[in-house]
Amino acid sequence: MSSERHIQLLPDHVANKIAAGEVVDRPASVVKELVENALDAGATQVDVQIVAGGRKLISVSDNGSGMNRDDALLSVERHATSKIRDVDDIERIGTLGFRGEALAAISAVAQFTLTTRRRDAESGTEVVIHGGKMQAVRDVGCPVGTTIHVRHLLFNVPARRKFLRSEQTELSHVRQAFLVYALSHPSVGFRLTVDEREVYRLAAGASVEDRLRDLFGPDLVKALRPVDYHAHDVTLRGYAGLPAASRADRAEQYIFINTRPASAPLLNYAVGEAYHTLLPHGRHPVLFLYVELDPSLVDVNVHPAKKEVRFRSPGDVRDAVIAGIRESLERASPNPELSSTASRTSGAAIGAEPPPARKPLITIENLPPARTFSYPRMPMIPSESPATSAGSRSDGGRAVDKDRGQSPWAWCRILGQVGGLYVVLETDEGLVLMDPHAAHERILFEKYMSEVLANKVTSQGLLTPETVDLAPRDALRVRENVSLLRKMGFGISEFGGDSFIVDALPACLGQSSAAALLTAVSASLEEAGARGGTERWSEESIAQAACKTAVKARDRLNLDEIERLVVDLAGAEMPYTCPHGRPTIIFMSFNELHKKFGRT
Ligand code: ADP
Ligand code: MG
Repeated sequence: MSSERHIQLLPDHVANKIAAGEVVDRPASVVKELVENALDAGATQVDVQIVAGGRKLISVSDNGSGMNRDDALLSVERHATSKIRDVDDIERIGTLGFRGEALAAISAVAQFTLTTRRRDAESGTEVVIHGGKMQAVRDVGCPVGTTIHVRHLLFNVPARRKFLRSEQTELSHVRQAFLVYALSHPSVGFRLTVDEREVYRLAAGASVEDRLRDLFGPDLVKALRPVDYHAHDVTLRGYAGLPAASRADRAEQYIFINTRPASAPLLNYAVGEAYHTLLPHGRHPVLFLYVELDPSLVDVNVHPAKKEVRFRSPGDVRDAVIAGIRESLERASPNPELSSTASRTSGAAIGAEPPPARKPLITIENLPPARTFSYPRMPMIPSESPATSAGSRSDGGRAVDKDRGQSPWAWCRILGQVGGLYVVLETDEGLVLMDPHAAHERILFEKYMSEVLANKVTSQGLLTPETVDLAPRDALRVRENVSLLRKMGFGISEFGGDSFIVDALPACLGQSSAAALLTAVSASLEEAGARGGTERWSEESIAQAACKTAVKARDRLNLDEIERLVVDLAGAEMPYTCPHGRPTIIFMSFNELHKKFGRT
């Protein structure tokens, strides 16, 4: 049968329909293309309207440049664009669109009306196209800017229309597309109306922070720290989520390259590395990142849907993202809006005498009048929101805090340990539960890493060198990393086969067993290797595993040890989670307690 067929050029309307299906596969992609055009036209207000999940109507109005009659007619032709002239222009794209395909595609597969007027024109132009066929062109009165109505999307491509999902599903894709541009252009006013109901009204002239608050609410904003970083022609702005506000997927990660929503494996990798040791496996931070760099250093042409980008100097972008996020999370200056101003409450001690109940809820061990001491400020996390407040780096030491009185947690009282484990503390703002293992891991990890990074690890010789036999896979990994381990304070040499001799360990790891350390280290190296990490990543993985092993041994703590932990934790750069991302402390403010007890 095929042998009887001859080659034929497809008529334009067929070719257009086929091509159109690639640009426009669902209502959300129409919204994306039309909103991009509006933004490229310099609009300061963009209104999107959807009926029946976009099957009946998608409309986008803007107050941008508008078009004259000739341009309006050209705009719906394939490969008609005002945004590039020559192939070289692809090298430095400053607009969201450039392929000149969207309007041609949309008008080929819908009932399409374009109404547009330039500021300097007396009247506007209306162009009506149904399924690629021009129905009318006329002068009309209309406001400056452009409005496009798209009705009955894919009405003439039933094979594709069939693939549209439920109204709900299509709508959620539309909302997502809308959200992305509302975020990429916070200074532009946006409105989204669904079935005649206004869903979003976002004011023009907003800052990123305003926009985030309007879209996601104040709780999310409290869990963010500003990012502001510049290096190697790469500028980074935006907000990075604190570890406590992490999620199981990347759905709340928005990255824009030169205001263009972008994704790239490199960016995911960099974000992962920036949060390494702050989040457990499988958790992802909330992130709103605006990356700016010279357009000639980014290739946005890789992906037809223009989402995936490539970089001329990927290393610089990766390093900037890592450094920018880390700096933001570590920054000491507290965000004033985030610091709590809760009034001082006279926190009555939880009985100096043990409660008489048969099975006391809280066992207070060897507790003299509870010990109160001052220590550097450590802002606390209200347990009702994921947010931590304010920054935390301090100069260490336990001198009386100069800010005492203003600082959220200027003193603290140790009430005891519960469950044979958790430390209970009272502060001037509320109740704190601390997991001493997690806290100790965090402290140890930071101390160890700072020694490693400064190339100043102190190692401690073992009285009798230990011979360690490892499983073949573990041995292989350790062998490959012997020099790194030496740099990190392990006195280690190969002893033939899968055996090693260890004659020194990093001093900060105390009396740990060499065998346990090496086994744990090897497992974490496997993970680091599997994720293609850098040397820094390997170092962190080693430190992470080693600290966990070193800490495991200790259980009961005396008051001095607890006090030491609190002071050291307050001085940590990232006090709220252990290096594996578990929380170190849980805080409940007196305000929260009052609320829970109905005392408002
Ligand atoms: P592209 O955006 O890739 O150039 P489109 O098919 O989306 O291709 O648009 C074609 C041209 O129509 C654009 O280059 C622009 O000149 C014009 N245009 C489209 N939408 C608008 C708009 N909302 N306001 C002003 N001009 C527009
Ligand atoms: Mg376009």
